[in-house]
Order: sequence, then structure tokens, then C-alpha cells
Amino acid sequence: MIQVLLTAIGAFFLVLGPARSATCTGNDIRLKVCLLEPAYNKESKLGDDYRSPTCQSGVTPDQRTHVENAFNIAPDKIKDELCRLKKIFIADRSFGLWENPASPSFMGTGKASYVAIDGNVISHSPSSPKPTALPEVEDSLIQSVLLKFDPTSAPSTWTGHSATVSSGTDTTPLAVLSQLTHELGHIKWYRDNIDSSLACFDTDFIDRSWHRGTLRNFYDRRWTALSEDPGADHRPGKPTRHPRDIQGKADAVHLRNLYNQGFASALAAVTPDEDFVETFKLVVLRNAKSTTATNPLLNSLTLEIKPNGSPLTVDVLNNSMQELADKASCVRPLVCLSPSTC
Ligand SMILES: [Zn+2]
Repeated sequence: MIQVLLTAIGAFFLVLGPARSATCTGNDIRLKVCLLEPAYNKESKLGDDYRSPTCQSGVTPDQRTHVENAFNIAPDKIKDELCRLKKIFIADRSFGLWENPASPSFMGTGKASYVAIDGNVISHSPSSPKPTALPEVEDSLIQSVLLKFDPTSAPSTWTGHSATVSSGTDTTPLAVLSQLTHELGHIKWYRDNIDSSLACFDTDFIDRSWHRGTLRNFYDRRWTALSEDPGADHRPGKPTRHPRDIQGKADAVHLRNLYNQGFASALAAVTPDEDFVETFKLVVLRNAKSTTATNPLLNSLTLEIKPNGSPLTVDVLNNSMQELADKASCVRPLVCLSPSTC
């Protein structure tokens, strides 16, 4: 009887207990930030000569502050994911790296996870608001996709994002969080075996958007480079064109259709893992806010596509196409502690 009562009191305490805080502090995050050694080339280091990336000296307090500011607006579970990283590198590109503990003879002995973000995004002072920071990060992604499949497409002349925030004008913390979350998404994909452990991934992502018969090369790889196309196709009958078949400005309407047909972004339409990662990132951006704010920080994120005719506008943040809404519901438990917090 006493034991039962104690259990009941315990459960009561858990329900009414203090709000859960992240597993590390903003200061812990600051200490993880460093400059990536210049010689490190991730893609050539996956063989027997693998070694973990290391820091070089020279990181500035401002660079640490930019990353801490992104941590401070991250939803609960993303804070915890950032706490698990060994280092957050400032580099000339972004990448995520998960060293698989199940391969004892590969990738060294002290297995860890690392993320790198592009230092150009945080080259200004944290006290100078930069409204274009998040649009520049998102422009860089869509334009990389278009250039990869059509190097003559000059996408910077006909695609561009804009963003507004609910407090002030600075989008830099969101720009940093966007990069961090994209790379955390790739780490989660491999570390947590998302395609088999997340039950809704099969029904909400693969069945709705992808052609299973074309995914073999995709599943065989262990590093996702933007320059590589494993040949994954969209589901037969889906009224979309894969980004590899979008031929520049003349196909602007096909670019827009990706967003109308269940993809979080053009990059999401390239492979199933980018589909997961970009959806995960969108849910994080929708729920980013400081701990003292009631409203999310990001008010709008819009993509304007300017073909020769009238411009096509895409509401990226509030894209409510059912297929994307289902994907977002699928990944939401990976972002938020409970539905009431996001
Ligand atoms: Zn990616």
C-alpha cells in the first residue's frame, strides 16, 4: 500500500515538476564552437585513412555568440541534439558527421558527432541585425540544387527568398539554426536509422513521394554530397518533375510545383533523406523562439520565382499542402517534447 502511494506521488511530481531544461547550457555550446582546421576534407576521409576533424585556433567571441543565439531559440529536442555534438565548426561549408560506434575498426575510437556551418553566414557582428541572413542561406540551397543539375541556369537571377521575424529584423539566429538543423537531420538519419525506426517515414514520405524501385543506389551510400545524384525518382504518377529534369528558368512552374506537391523545398525533392532533413528543418524553423517569447520568431519565409512571365510566390513557412502537413506531423515528435510546446 505504501509502495503504491509512493509511486502515485512520484507520478504526480513528474507531471507537475519544473519545466524541463536542456541537457546543457548556452555556455556549454559556446565552448563547442571552433574554427575547422583548413586541411580537413571530409569527403576524402571516409576510407582507411579516416580521422576526426579538429579545431584550429582563432575562433572569436562573436562567432561563439552567433551559435549560442541559435541554440537559445532552438526547440527543446534540438537543444539536446546540439548538446550531444562534440564540436560545432565554423568552416567554408556546412556538413554533419556521425562516427558510427558500431564500426570499431573504422572512424577511430572516440566516436562522436560534429557539425560544421558556413562562416560567411556569421561574419558580421551579432549586434548588427541582418535581415537577409536566413534568405541567403535558403537561396544558397535552392540555387545549389538548380546549378548542380543545370550549370547554365543562373538561378540567382530568378529565384530568391525573403523573411520576416516577429521581433526586430535580425534573421541571423534562424540562419545559423537552419544550417545546424539541416546537418543534425543528416546525423539523425544515419544514427537513428530514420527510414526503419520512424514508423511513419514509410507511409508519409516514401509511399507518398518516392518510387521504391529507384532507391537502391540511394540506400547504398553513406555520405550525402550535394554533387551526387543516386537516381531516386518521385512516385510514378506524381505530378512533379525531379529537380534533375528542371531546365532553368523556362521550367519555373515545375520548380514551384515541388512546393505544391508535398516537398518542403527543392532540395527535399532530390532524395528521401533530403526530404526528411528539409521537413525536419522546416518544423524547427516554425517552432524557433526565445524561451521568454510566446510567438515563434519566424513570421514568414517566402520564395519568389521570377520566370519571364508573372512571378510565382511560394509560402515556404506556412506551406499547408496535406502531403507536407503529414510529413511535418511525422517528424514533429523528433523536435518537440510534447504537442503543446510546438
Ligand atoms: Zn543535405
